[in-house]
Amino acid sequence: MKCVACDSYTFQFIFEKNSCQIEKCLVCGLVQVTNRPSKEEVVAIYDKDFFETYYRELENNRKKQRYEYLNFNNKLDQIEKRTAKKGNILDIGCSFGFFLDAARQRGWTVAGIDLAEYAAKFAAQRFGIRVINKTITEAEFEENSFDVITMWNTIEHLINPKQELEHLSNFLKDDGLLVVSTANVDSLRARIEGRRWRIWIPPEHLSFFSPQTMRNLFDKCGLVIFDQETAVPYEGCLRKLKIYNLLDKLKVSDNVVYYARKLEMN
Ligand SMILES: [Zn+2]
Repeated sequence: MKCVACDSYTFQFIFEKNSCQIEKCLVCGLVQVTNRPSKEEVVAIYDKDFFETYYRELENNRKKQRYEYLNFNNKLDQIEKRTAKKGNILDIGCSFGFFLDAARQRGWTVAGIDLAEYAAKFAAQRFGIRVINKTITEAEFEENSFDVITMWNTIEHLINPKQELEHLSNFLKDDGLLVVSTANVDSLRARIEGRRWRIWIPPEHLSFFSPQTMRNLFDKCGLVIFDQETAVPYEGCLRKLKIYNLLDKLKVSDNVVYYARKLEMN
């Protein structure tokens, strides 16, 4: 198979897990599962059982709900710092729609995409949020219609991240903001934990990015990353306590949020 970011064929084998070959592209450096599942196999992963635990936790635990909404509002604070106005926001892999619910409460017009029928139905019924139950490349929106597109820990699940990012960028306004978070395979934690790192869960996760390989991929899609931040647990609280900047500097987190725009064509 070809590298999902740069189309080259040369890989270095790293290890095998859950019958997935995890290899590193020798040209662009992206770590990826090289025997990728089909769309049908991916759909089968995200069934009702997949969401049950998260759903029960969030539905029955008020503390957890408050914590999640604090995090969503913190993410929205960061987005609003980087956008001129609250317009249309599209969340990819929106799951139950809690993030979109938080965004709507702050005045955003919201829409979502999620491959999982169970989650998409929940978002529609519970929040009345419009969720397209398709893959990114199957979904169609008006061109240049979104001010912001978000992907919270979703890009690592995509079968063809390059193709899907390219398709997505059509829906983003020329001055729109794309926000993508994902784990960092080059982080200290990933290095220390080795194969025990919790992110090695193929075939759910299919790509394992570093800031460098993310930049390469975005570049190939006509997108440019202009800012990045580490994403840490309890980030909302830590920001309030002014500890966040210190942690960010120390690079203790293995999750990164990237802020990107379309590359200017002129
Ligand atoms: Zn490559």
